[in-house]
Amino acid sequence: MSQNTSTPTVKLLIGGELVESRSSQWRDVVNPATQEVLARVPFATEDEMNAAVASAREAFKTWRKTPIGARARVFLKYQQLIRENMKELAALLTAEQGKTLPDAEGDIFRGLEVVEHAANIGTLQMGELANNVASGVDTYTLNQPLGVCAGITPFNFPAMIPLWMFPMAIATGNTFVLKPSEQDPMVTMRLAELAMEAGVPPGVLNVIHGGADAVNLLCDHPDIKAVSFVGSTKVGTHVYNRATANGKRAQCMMGAKNHAIVLPDAHKQQTLNNLAGAAFGAAGQRCMALSVVILVGEAQNWLPELVEKAKSLKIGAGVEAGTDVGPVVSCAALDRVSSLIAAGEKDGAKLVLDGRDPQVSGYANGNFVGPTIFAGVTPEMTIYREEIFGPVLCVVSAATLDEAIAFINANPNGNGTALFTRSGAAARHFQEEIDVGQVGINVPIPVPVPLFSFTGSRASKLGDLGPYGKQVVQFYTQTKTVTSRWFDEDEVGTAVNTTITL
Ligand code: NAD
Repeated sequence: MSQNTSTPTVKLLIGGELVESRSSQWRDVVNPATQEVLARVPFATEDEMNAAVASAREAFKTWRKTPIGARARVFLKYQQLIRENMKELAALLTAEQGKTLPDAEGDIFRGLEVVEHAANIGTLQMGELANNVASGVDTYTLNQPLGVCAGITPFNFPAMIPLWMFPMAIATGNTFVLKPSEQDPMVTMRLAELAMEAGVPPGVLNVIHGGADAVNLLCDHPDIKAVSFVGSTKVGTHVYNRATANGKRAQCMMGAKNHAIVLPDAHKQQTLNNLAGAAFGAAGQRCMALSVVILVGEAQNWLPELVEKAKSLKIGAGVEAGTDVGPVVSCAALDRVSSLIAAGEKDGAKLVLDGRDPQVSGYANGNFVGPTIFAGVTPEMTIYREEIFGPVLCVVSAATLDEAIAFINANPNGNGTALFTRSGAAARHFQEEIDVGQVGINVPIPVPVPLFSFTGSRASKLGDLGPYGKQVVQFYTQTKTVTSRWFDEDEVGTAVNTTITL
């Protein structure tokens, strides 16, 4: 960790104030392209974390009763502020995370879409009413906020994923404690500041920093009613078990191994471009990155052209114009990806493109690994079983579409998948038979827009309601069902009713 006291510190947000932590434990936030220390982030003390939860609990008393139009208008203002600050936010994101500037703007934009969605909360949170369920009796529902909710986010989308969480939680009338990734918390903090500027009242949004201890406190704290998590399968499973054992709602979006099937009738150039972008863009550090491609029949002959396409991608710092593949987030991530490539060779996969140790002019210290392709990959190999989370594509061959579908369904993960074809019948067969939560037809990374919800499945998700869209309104609210009858002043009383019918 940097001892340089002139290095800026990342603040906590507690009760509407940016607070300098009193912690003795700090971590450097490092630019992955240069190793420059950008800031120091604290591991908040237990008192600080409890103060954040207490301030959220106090703020809930008034925020839950704030008119729905007033809540919506905060998010109308917030989306405007995010747009106005897009360039500054993207520069911050690229500096601490590594992805290219256009990709950083994409990260922010996909979160901005959720903010726009939150501004529509009026119609989203409406209940239902059935008139005359019995004579003179109506039944209706109230979708009421839960209280203090918490969010725990990963490093790979430090704008989009926090924005999946707190805008919808707050728009539905809850208050929030966010714990961003300790690897790149700066853009998340800037987004929290803009939320305050947009009118989120003090205490309604709080941000703490830290690692496992902070996460465990959020899972255990009796005043927290629901926990949203996005990150690895190992940590997400721990969070789900711990939070639900403490009686909380939990939704955990976790790791992946996303496959695409290419049929020989697919549009060749479009498909190859899509495969290269989805496998190697953002240096493969997307939960919806394409990590396995199954070439069916004659499409197996396309491998050399796929390799050429991958070779044409430019590796470089995210700030450099024209960069396609930026660095991975940390030296540890680079070591991990490199050792998985070595494991692929050892297990007998054919390394048809080796992206290790690329020469990146001007960035000799960056965590770079270029596009890497293995052919002849089989399910027992480590590179197939593990989520690599780097720019490494595994290529598998299949004789038929059904063989490829069976291969994907045998993988435990269910985050995303795609089919490339010109056949409507094949596409429909695929969408019916594939056991994966998010399906792309000639769309390589099928992340739904916020009119829908994020719907990863099987080992990629715990909890039944996904982030954003209609599902998250259900996640962040308790449905109260009211059955009511009103008597006229002059109504004559009937005999005491001892049955349970209406
Ligand atoms: P991670 O699981 O290491 O970290 C996620 C969060 O958990 C961070 O805030 C971190 O501080 C915390 N954490 C880390 N170790 C912990 C521990 N031992 N106990 C408690 N908390 C701990 O994930 P990451 O490396 O930041 O992100 C990459 C992973 O996230 C990949 O597996 C990727 O697939 C997944 N991801 C999934 C989705 C999705 O929607 N399914 C989206 C983005 C990323």
